[in-house]
Amino acid sequence: MRESETRFRTLVEQSPFSTQIFRPDGSVITVNKAFCTLWGASPAEAQYIIDNYNILKDEQLEISGLMSFIKQGFTDCFTEIPVIEYNPQKTEVVKHTGLTTKWVVGYIWPVKDKQGRVEQVVLTHQDVTERKQIEAQQLELARTRARADLLNELLNTLAHDLKTPLSIINTSLYLLEKTADPAYQKQKIDTIREQSQRLNQMIQNILTVSYLDMGLDSSMRVLDLNIIATQIGEEFSDSAEDSSITIEFDLERTLPPVHANEIEFRRVLVNLLENALHYTPSGGRITLHTFSQSNEVGVEIRDTGIGIEASDLPHIFDHFYRADKARTTHRGGTGLGLAIVKKIIERHQGRIEVESIPGQGSSFWIWLPMFQETMTD
Ligand code: ADP
Repeated sequence: MRESETRFRTLVEQSPFSTQIFRPDGSVITVNKAFCTLWGASPAEAQYIIDNYNILKDEQLEISGLMSFIKQGFTDCFTEIPVIEYNPQKTEVVKHTGLTTKWVVGYIWPVKDKQGRVEQVVLTHQDVTERKQIEAQQLELARTRARADLLNELLNTLAHDLKTPLSIINTSLYLLEKTADPAYQKQKIDTIREQSQRLNQMIQNILTVSYLDMGLDSSMRVLDLNIIATQIGEEFSDSAEDSSITIEFDLERTLPPVHANEIEFRRVLVNLLENALHYTPSGGRITLHTFSQSNEVGVEIRDTGIGIEASDLPHIFDHFYRADKARTTHRGGTGLGLAIVKKIIERHQGRIEVESIPGQGSSFWIWLPMFQETMTD
């Protein structure tokens, strides 16, 4: 018995893992050298722990939710032999040692006698900080790679999209130089103007995207969406009339206010209304509908336009995405309008949804949280 006791003690003492051995009542029998190293305890502190600590009365363990694991290690009893039953209960706790945070993983199991009574409980800890750091680095690396891939993809699309209007401008300039026909000249000049406007719009959109990406502070105030929807709808009435499209309003009378950045919110409505106009053939109708439900206030922009194919719907909020149909019906788009809308709505803790039936029309819904007094704090 004594021999095996000595062997057991030597094993514990030499173990590279921090080891504590407890009595069934939670008081400490012993701790090993690795325990002192891991937890930074001096020999005197280790002795103090042996004399005074009771793990089953540790309030911190209770608060952190670890006590249930510890208790399982104390009570779990199999009545089988061999005497040492290894039943690891894995727990992870963080120890703040000065500036560095250590990650340690613990295992706890009871040592039982032949009758299956718990004689002692062993708790070991292993420092897994290095493993955690490597995991964190790998995660960061994967994120950086994903960002680089996205950027690469954006740059490729951007280069391609910028090249199209530029090559139209170049060809038009070349033809302009070759012709003396005033009507033909005017046509080419119009094309150049149109394409340079398109370039300008693309650059504006790219700047907006990067401004929103930087998460610049935006000043928020209490807004009445009915007023903004009416103003913007009226701003578009001339171009709607030119295309023989009717703009209608269906505004909730007592619409609660929202807390939003006015410039950004106007941009949302402008982009959605521009799309509705671009993708609705003449004779069509656009409805601006405001509503509130539970804690949200919303605007719906409904059109009777060409609609969006189901296969395109999941992509329309991506940067530079344009459905094939859009490329043929509305050549001036940049594919950034909806990406901007989505970003702004997300910045406002809102959400956006779309429903569309090809050939019949589309509805874009945006919801913003209803204004509450606490939002201005
Ligand atoms: P674009 O500059 O091409 O309009 P957006 O990001 O605003 O770019 O929209 C992305 C794509 O979503 C469009 O190219 C078009 O295919 C589709 N789309 C957006 N709004 C509508 C709409 N109201 N009706 C039909 N298709 C739409």
